[in-house]
Amino acid sequence: MNIPSEAQVTQDPLAEIAALRTKIESLEREIRDQQVLLESLAEHSDSLQAELLDFNLQLEQRVAERTAELQTAYQVLEKMNENKSVFIDLIAHELRTPLTVIKGHAQMLQSITGSLHNEVVDRFVDGLVKGAERLEALVNSTLDVAKIENSTLSLTKRAVYMWELFEPIEATYRKVLEARGLKLTVDIASLPPTLADAKLLYRTFDELISNAVKYTPDGGQITVTGDIYATETEDATSDSFLHISVADTGIGIAPDHHQLIFEKFYQLGKVEVHSSSRTNYRGGGPGLGLAVARGVIEAHKGRIWAESPGFNEQTFPGSTFHVLLPLLTWELDKQKKQE
Ligand code: ADP
Repeated sequence: MNIPSEAQVTQDPLAEIAALRTKIESLEREIRDQQVLLESLAEHSDSLQAELLDFNLQLEQRVAERTAELQTAYQVLEKMNENKSVFIDLIAHELRTPLTVIKGHAQMLQSITGSLHNEVVDRFVDGLVKGAERLEALVNSTLDVAKIENSTLSLTKRAVYMWELFEPIEATYRKVLEARGLKLTVDIASLPPTLADAKLLYRTFDELISNAVKYTPDGGQITVTGDIYATETEDATSDSFLHISVADTGIGIAPDHHQLIFEKFYQLGKVEVHSSSRTNYRGGGPGLGLAVARGVIEAHKGRIWAESPGFNEQTFPGSTFHVLLPLLTWELDKQKKQE
């Protein structure tokens, strides 16, 4: 037997129509509500869009204002930097010119008074020449430091062999070394060249030797050696450097000062700045030499650092100063690759 389902049971058609109408009416209401909602949303998004546009405009305006401010500040800084360079050049000229005259005249006087064989006059004139020389060295170092800090140190590079630098250095110190019983051994003749400013490198190594002479007691040993030093780079190629070391048997440097000594005007212990020469044991200096040396070596893309077991004025543990300079061949290869 087939029993009809509930849906199949016919209902009152009038009641069905009324129910349908109610449903349609409720649907119509729903649609109207949706429309209202959509309209209000559209209105809202319009105002949101307007707000966004306004915000963007404000942002652009602020960025433009800040850029203009930065540009003005940059121009002021550039001008100040320019003024600083002009000032340094001016001072260099103003100080160097009279100094050259004083030094030249003092040296002329020395050559004249030398033949008089008057000890007192000789001593005075000697003092005059040495004083002028020290003043000249101080002016040069101060100007070098200023140039390094100002990034205006210009390098005139060429292929430089270490022996070119150390031959005149050895000649300069020969007399003093003899007088103080110090031995200077230099073993760098076979080293390949570096691409460098010869004058600045000369001054740097002269400074290291003068320090070794100054801080090593009479009878000590100063040794200059060199080799090739290769370091691994991030891209697994190797950077090749010339490695020069200047070792002495002097008073040494405490580990916590190994870095600080490269800061300008940094000195350790009691130094006779005014009366003593740079070749006397513990002679004076303004504390600029190593600051200039670091600036020069770093301008050559090299490195300089000090090693010493410590400071001791009785046992003399000694110090070693290391310098790394890019090899000429390596630097030329790199330049070629960049072209
Ligand atoms: P200064 O003009 O005083 O020599 P430097 O910048 O050349 O200035 O050196 C800074 C300080 O580093 C020196 O005052 C000294 O104390 C220390 N120093 C430099 N070289 C040596 C060395 N070879 N042995 C011991 N101390 C050194």
